[in-house]
Amino acid sequence: MSVLPPGATIGIIGSGQLGRMIGMAAAQLGYRIHVYAPETGPANDVAFTHSRGAYDDIDALRAFARQVDVVTYEFENIAAAPIAALGDKVRPSARSLEIAQDRVREKRFVEALGGTPARWAEVADRAALDAAIASVGCPAVLKTTRFGYDGKGQARLMAAGDADAAWDAIGGGPAVLEAFVDFSAEFSVVLARGSDGAVAMYPPPANVHKDGILDTSSVPAPAIEPWRAQAEALAAKVAEALDHVGVLTLEFFCGPDGAVFNEMAPRVHNSGHWTIEGAETSQFENHVRAVLGLPLGGVGLTAAHAEMTNLIGDDVAAWPALMAESGAHLHLYGKREARPGRKMGHVTRIER
Ligand code: AMP
Repeated sequence: MSVLPPGATIGIIGSGQLGRMIGMAAAQLGYRIHVYAPETGPANDVAFTHSRGAYDDIDALRAFARQVDVVTYEFENIAAAPIAALGDKVRPSARSLEIAQDRVREKRFVEALGGTPARWAEVADRAALDAAIASVGCPAVLKTTRFGYDGKGQARLMAAGDADAAWDAIGGGPAVLEAFVDFSAEFSVVLARGSDGAVAMYPPPANVHKDGILDTSSVPAPAIEPWRAQAEALAAKVAEALDHVGVLTLEFFCGPDGAVFNEMAPRVHNSGHWTIEGAETSQFENHVRAVLGLPLGGVGLTAAHAEMTNLIGDDVAAWPALMAESGAHLHLYGKREARPGRKMGHVTRIER
């Protein structure tokens, strides 16, 4: 792939905060972004221009793609076929999207490469849930196969008697049932893969979730060290097998018998936001570099410790104090209304 020089335009499908931060990194390097989404969002504030259209409107997507030099996406809850129709202008390719957006496919893909998800079973319909409970056991988590995020589309089962309630809670199948993992910690491997196949992995952050939503990510994370090499080896294999170009994130549990694969995202990730101030090159800049065919930047820590905390819903009201706090870097996404569970911004605390 040839290198796209400064001045080129990156098309971003999706208008959320991830697109916003990709746009800010792109601008720093002299590139601009063109956002494509059905509605305006945080990315529009920093975009050169935008197109409005549905995520499955192939004609509108093609018209958008003609106006940009490369197309990338900032979330995966979109149909893969219309993205595939844009051809090799899309990085990462639609294949990364197809695998990562479907829990059945991603688990099979990872298993074929030697990775270990929690014990799981496919649940096509309500009858299959009873069979899945018999094979997986309880406690377990029922998750919609597609289009779940931030703990949405998930329900816990403590016993087989919870099946009806769990089935209703996720709005019916298709789904997967996963054994509940008794983990000591959670972490993620955030990596960037260039168009030449070079891979750069950030030091993995330990992640703490609250109500299914990421709360904090911190590095370095000595508690996850015994699980790190196994997880990184799998992440490298996944990136290679997908021929992924851009940032790729894999989430893991520290399980009693090793690193348990949870899920992957074919994009920049909330658990990598600390890299803006805490790493030599942010995940956003490295995503931009990768999709433009540029060499990747260094991923080493630039701080003794970095911790990112999400500002969810009303947490954002603390912004004046956070702005005044020494060593704290405040990021607000420009969302007007602070609804419960909505990611309004984040703060990264750095210790030099
Ligand atoms: P997910 O959207 O699948 O990443 O799930 C969100 C969070 O729910 C995870 O980060 C965990 O904290 C928790 N969780 C999900 N699946 C499991 C599982 N099989 N066992 C234990 N905790 C889980």
